[in-house]
Amino acid sequence: MKRRLLWQIFPAFLVITALGLLLISLNVSGLLRAFYYEEKQIQLEKLANMALPTLSGPVQERQLSAIQQYCDQMGGVSQTRYTVIGLNGDVLGDSDESPEEMETHIDRPEFKTALKNQVGMSVRPSDTLGQEMMYVAIPIKNADNTIVAVLRTSVATTELQMTLKSVYGDIIRYGFVIAIVLAVLSLLFSWKISRPLNLLRQGAERFASGDLSHRLAVPDSREVGALADSMNKMAGQLDDRIKTIVAQKNEQQAVLSSMIEGVIAVSIDGTVLSMNNAAAEMVSADVRQAVGRTVEEVVHNTELQQFVRQALKSTDPVEAAIILHENGQNEQHIQAYGTTLLSDSGKVGVLVVMNDVTHIRRLERVRRDFVANVSHELKTPVTSIKGFIETLLDGAMNKPEDSRRFLEIIARQTDRLNLIIDDLLTLSRVEQQSERAELTMEPAKLKTVLSAAVSLCEIKATGKNIQIKIDCGEAIEANVNASLLEQAIVNLVDNAIKYSDADSTVRIEVVQDEAETQIRVQDQGCGIGAEHLPRLFERFYRVDKARSRSLGGTGLGLAIVNHIAQTHKGTVSVESQPGRGSTFTIRLPR
Ligand code: ADP
Repeated sequence: MKRRLLWQIFPAFLVITALGLLLISLNVSGLLRAFYYEEKQIQLEKLANMALPTLSGPVQERQLSAIQQYCDQMGGVSQTRYTVIGLNGDVLGDSDESPEEMETHIDRPEFKTALKNQVGMSVRPSDTLGQEMMYVAIPIKNADNTIVAVLRTSVATTELQMTLKSVYGDIIRYGFVIAIVLAVLSLLFSWKISRPLNLLRQGAERFASGDLSHRLAVPDSREVGALADSMNKMAGQLDDRIKTIVAQKNEQQAVLSSMIEGVIAVSIDGTVLSMNNAAAEMVSADVRQAVGRTVEEVVHNTELQQFVRQALKSTDPVEAAIILHENGQNEQHIQAYGTTLLSDSGKVGVLVVMNDVTHIRRLERVRRDFVANVSHELKTPVTSIKGFIETLLDGAMNKPEDSRRFLEIIARQTDRLNLIIDDLLTLSRVEQQSERAELTMEPAKLKTVLSAAVSLCEIKATGKNIQIKIDCGEAIEANVNASLLEQAIVNLVDNAIKYSDADSTVRIEVVQDEAETQIRVQDQGCGIGAEHLPRLFERFYRVDKARSRSLGGTGLGLAIVNHIAQTHKGTVSVESQPGRGSTFTIRLPR
């Protein structure tokens, strides 16, 4: 567990202030002591000097009683001990003791100094009195300036020490108070230093937790202020950068997900890095679960798996046509392209782009089938015509009965050829016109168009005793190419008559709303099986070839209707159940 900054700064401050205080106190007390002692020394020296003129006479004349008397007198007045010491160290007079009982003072340091014609000073416990004393000694000289004796003044330092003690007490008391004040101040100071850092820490924690919009308060101190400033800038830049990255990612995601092409990014070890919705749909996978899994787990089509493996191995772009959902009914053809995903460190995977070409493949097949169908459709009547002509040439010509029958057949086959070619021409005309946008669209009364179409089918209908009913408001108009629409209706009504039993009814209904106009042709005929419905509008597609042919059908009628509907930007659809009749609906947008 790390200690708080406050508890690191504060003790250091405390130790420093305590040490400082201690040093100052020691120094001050030392100075005070020196000062007091010096004062005392000067005082003692002054007293000694004052006594000199009076003492020098008796000392020179060795008047011991006069010396003693003077010492007693001065000592009593000034509360100072006076001692006169002879050059040999014998005490000649003393204000506190009787000189006879006193030992020689020859070895006293102050005495020795005074003999050298200097002021001697010494502080030590007194031999006689036992307490600490201060001694000051000066030489007593005669007229020739020769030292004849030494005068010593001394005093007990007890009082001085008492004063010093009380001063020391004061110092300690005040020091203690100052120490407490300083401790509080340094606590405050430490708190003031650590507080902005603490705030920075809290701010940094918010940044770390992702709240980059938070801004730190900038403290007054220059260093911490600069730090807060830099951190704010850093957070701002990070915020901007993250926002940019997120925006880019979203953009990329939007681009990817709105693409029609399936896109799968696969890492070099074969795991899916990303996948767009189109790809997920193609391979029937879940985008969210796909990422991080291997290609084999996500894609179940072996061809595509192999393709990805091949792309991972290859250094060049690869391409392949692949069929997805082979077993299912709606097989899907895709054209897959694999390109290398490069980073600074080289190849990191592949990007597989899948184009759904099912529609193109279907068109190609329709076109191929169409050519084959046309050839086949034409071939049948041509073969038959050729056969009968050969028969005629081989001699049947001479039998008038046969030749008439054969020629009638040839005429019928020629009609058939004509019908097919007519339908083909109509189809290609409609195609061309719609491609070149040559058609003129005009508002037309639908009832008129329908009636015209019906009158063209009248003969066939009456032949089978089929009633045709038109249910269309007189006023209903639509923006159409009347002759094309008429052709489409004729085809539908013609089919309705062809594939209905005699004595039934064909109903033509028009419904119009704001969005579209619907033209429905409804019959009570044989109906169509559901399996035929998806391909019904293809060229030459017939449910029952023989029946259609015998009824004079070409298999192109509905293809033409479909085309005409598309030319009007509309659609045609069919609802039918075998045995229950069919309803064909042309929808034209308004
Ligand atoms: P066809 O010339 O053979 O009639 P179409 O393209 O008009 O060719 O029709 C294609 C096929 O759709 C027909 O062969 C027929 O089997 C079926 N069909 C078209 N209309 C009807 C209908 N009203 N009722 C039943 N089957 C129909």
